[in-house]
Amino acid sequence: MAAQRRATRWQLPVLTGSATADVLLYSAVIGTVVGLAFPYVLVATGFAPNVAMSGRIRLLCIVAGLLVAAANALLARLVIGSRLTRLARAMRTVRTSIEHSVVSGSVELCHDGCHVAVDSADAIGAVASDFNALVDAVGRAHGAQRDLAAVARAVTSGLDADDLCRTGLAELRARSAVTGAALVVSTDGDRRVFTDGSVPAELLNACDGYLNGSDAARRAEVDVARLGWCCTPLTTHEAPLGVLVLPDRSDDAGRRRLVEVFAATLALSLSNALAHERLAAQSRVDELTGLLNRRAGLQALAEHLGRGREGPARVAVAMIDLDHFKTVNDTHGHLVGDRLLAHVASICRRALRADDVLLRYGGEEFVAVLPGQDARAAGAAAERLRATVDRTPLRLRDGTTVHVTVSVGVAVPIPGTVSDPIGSLLHEADAALYRAKAAGRDRVEVAPAPTADVVDAV
Ligand code: GH3
Ligand code: MG
Ligand code: MG
Repeated sequence: MAAQRRATRWQLPVLTGSATADVLLYSAVIGTVVGLAFPYVLVATGFAPNVAMSGRIRLLCIVAGLLVAAANALLARLVIGSRLTRLARAMRTVRTSIEHSVVSGSVELCHDGCHVAVDSADAIGAVASDFNALVDAVGRAHGAQRDLAAVARAVTSGLDADDLCRTGLAELRARSAVTGAALVVSTDGDRRVFTDGSVPAELLNACDGYLNGSDAARRAEVDVARLGWCCTPLTTHEAPLGVLVLPDRSDDAGRRRLVEVFAATLALSLSNALAHERLAAQSRVDELTGLLNRRAGLQALAEHLGRGREGPARVAVAMIDLDHFKTVNDTHGHLVGDRLLAHVASICRRALRADDVLLRYGGEEFVAVLPGQDARAAGAAAERLRATVDRTPLRLRDGTTVHVTVSVGVAVPIPGTVSDPIGSLLHEADAALYRAKAAGRDRVEVAPAPTADVVDAV
């Protein structure tokens, strides 16, 4: 500050607005003064006054002074001006390069090198060397900015939580040049680990502490630091969402900032992705029974039907309808009716195989999609369901039980080309169910093998 004030105090006034012209003018003034003073110096050093003070000698001294001044100004221009011009050219290149990288998103700053030669050990050299340092700093800042943008892009480029974690982690690893990285995401009791295998399992377990309250977090911090790694929690609205595990390089401020931005951006987009996942899952599920709803269930049926490329797909459907369910509602109330629906859904689900699909088709109707089963096997499976429901009444809190039976209609796909395979199949199952009801309920009816013509005519 003091040096700056001193420099300002000694600054010569600006005369013309051109530094070169100012140097020329100041040199001319000095040359004239020296030219005027020189005859007196001659006299003082022993020259005859009549010669030294003659008009011709005075004129010559002034002309000599002006010539030296002009040469001085020219030299200043050649020696200093050329270096300043070089510096200005380099500055222009840096500026253009920055502007270009902003517009085009180019990753390189100054392909051709923006540094200037440092060839003098004075103020000009100091300026050149400071300029080079500035270019390096701008390059580093540009690189850091580019890395931040790249990791932020990687974790905001979709709505699939697993994809975001995987691509984000890979990008972070590449940008921060770390030897290993892992991400533990834990929500609603669901724990997902993303790692390249280089992070020890012991460490991942310790990092879980972050997700289990502050005491556990403190203990985890000690464990993790002991192993030479560090955990960065991912939080949204103060709620822990996951933990990022990286080798500890807390002395590297640039990397620390990159990790901070990564963790904050990932936490935000991950919570959006998880919310989206939850909504998507909820939109497929029937709230009362927890089964797939009609839309999602029929989509699964369509997928199974679509698998039969040659001939009909090997899949059967069983349409299940509770018998006299209205009476249950009338006798015990709708709340008990609801519980009975959930109960029947649950026992039917348990009685089916893992890859069978059970969906809530309507009020008290369910449809079981039985992949790989022909009419006979599907009939047997439906009979098992019927018997299970029959012998498993709903037990109420007061100890009483509510007994219900189901009627089931089974059908298999129609051979040949059918315009609406799902509609036709469900129609056949419904017709079989109707026959089961008409025959006295609590029974299974299997649709006779129909032909495409018959079903399409319905
Ligand atoms: P059927 O043996 O002929 O099938 O007789 P049903 O009484 O079971 O059949 P119906 O079609 O006459 O009545 C179905 C009843 O199911 C009427 C409706 O109030 C009830 N229901 C539909 N959805 C729900 C639900 O979500 N909860 C409850 N509690 N009842 C429901
Ligand atoms: Mg019904
Ligand atoms: Mg019914």
